[in-house]
Amino acid sequence: MLWSRAGFTGKSGGMTQNIQPQRFSFSLNATDGKARTGVISTPRGEIRTPAFMPVGTAATVKAMMPESVRATGADILLGNTYHLMLRPTAERIANLGGLHKFMNWERPILTDSGGFQVMSLSELRKLTEKGVTFRSHVDGSKHELTPERSMEIQKLLGSDIVMCFDECPALPADRGRIAESMRLSMRWAARSKEAFGDRPGYALFGIQQGGLERDFREESAEALKEIGFDGYALGGLAVGEGQEAMFDTLDFAPDMLPTDKPRYLMGVGKPDDIVGAVKRGIDMMDCVLPSRSGRTGQAWTRRGQVNIKNARHADDPRPLDEHCTCPACRNYSRAYLHHVFRSHEIISSMLLTWHNLHYFQEIMQGMRDAIAGGRFAAWEKEFHDTRALGDIEPL
Ligand SMILES: [Zn+2]
Repeated sequence: MLWSRAGFTGKSGGMTQNIQPQRFSFSLNATDGKARTGVISTPRGEIRTPAFMPVGTAATVKAMMPESVRATGADILLGNTYHLMLRPTAERIANLGGLHKFMNWERPILTDSGGFQVMSLSELRKLTEKGVTFRSHVDGSKHELTPERSMEIQKLLGSDIVMCFDECPALPADRGRIAESMRLSMRWAARSKEAFGDRPGYALFGIQQGGLERDFREESAEALKEIGFDGYALGGLAVGEGQEAMFDTLDFAPDMLPTDKPRYLMGVGKPDDIVGAVKRGIDMMDCVLPSRSGRTGQAWTRRGQVNIKNARHADDPRPLDEHCTCPACRNYSRAYLHHVFRSHEIISSMLLTWHNLHYFQEIMQGMRDAIAGGRFAAWEKEFHDTRALGDIEPL
């Protein structure tokens, strides 16, 4: 069967030219301890790993043009099924040519399944074996999400990496609740795989659950490997357990997953969370932190967190970080960033978000280079030593 999709079917001289699909693949280039670097290949471009995915919740990374997001070094974005299915709806996006065209981002997109956000954002939800019914936070309308419907929505969006529909309890939760939830998610993973079908060039990732419990993580990993996926995510972490507990779990959970497939840690995190996760064998992460912080006057730099609304920046002619090459640091002083934040100017969100995304991507590039060069431990030490210095002294 010929395969075609907008952007891959070219017309020349009246002839329709079908380009064969390029398979989704992952190649591991180097490891250093448990840390890994490699490349995920998709028909929409390569993703260098370890990769940080900025979050484009409502078909936009807030305060950023897509070309600016790309300029920070991002290879892939994350989109949220829950938000897009409610507004503007997956059907409307499909009719307008898919999410890539709709939001003007031609590179790969990963979408979550909607499960996590239904659980955390929606009121009046009802969970059954079949799926979840809930009321929209936008207009109160009633909706149903099932593994089958989640796969349908993510296909309508045209997502390159599709996530299984799953459910996870907030931590702490008792073992009984964690086991019950994990087993339901594994049954949903099998239904997700069945509904996803055979789609060359697109990937479906399974999601390991089991909270902080080693035996449940193992049971979940075995169930997922039995079904077989293009990549494996670690779900149910960064949900309130704290960094130490998360790292304790990451000391064993990724090892249960296939080494030849990408491993994605969902919803992480702060710079030191990201570095600690990569050290433990994680290849992909996403978080709203750099963009959300950018809108609340928080900057992340090599020397830690900077609160730009603090009065000590009002007369400071220096950039946020003199080593940073982003537009906010190249062209603007702390005094200016402080002024536009205090004046509620839109450029404040734009500049701080750009800087934060740039810094997060710089960390990823630093780790990729260090792993490839077999010097991850030295890189990690410098990362922590620089942060320990704290922000530069006031003038
Ligand atoms: Zn910067």
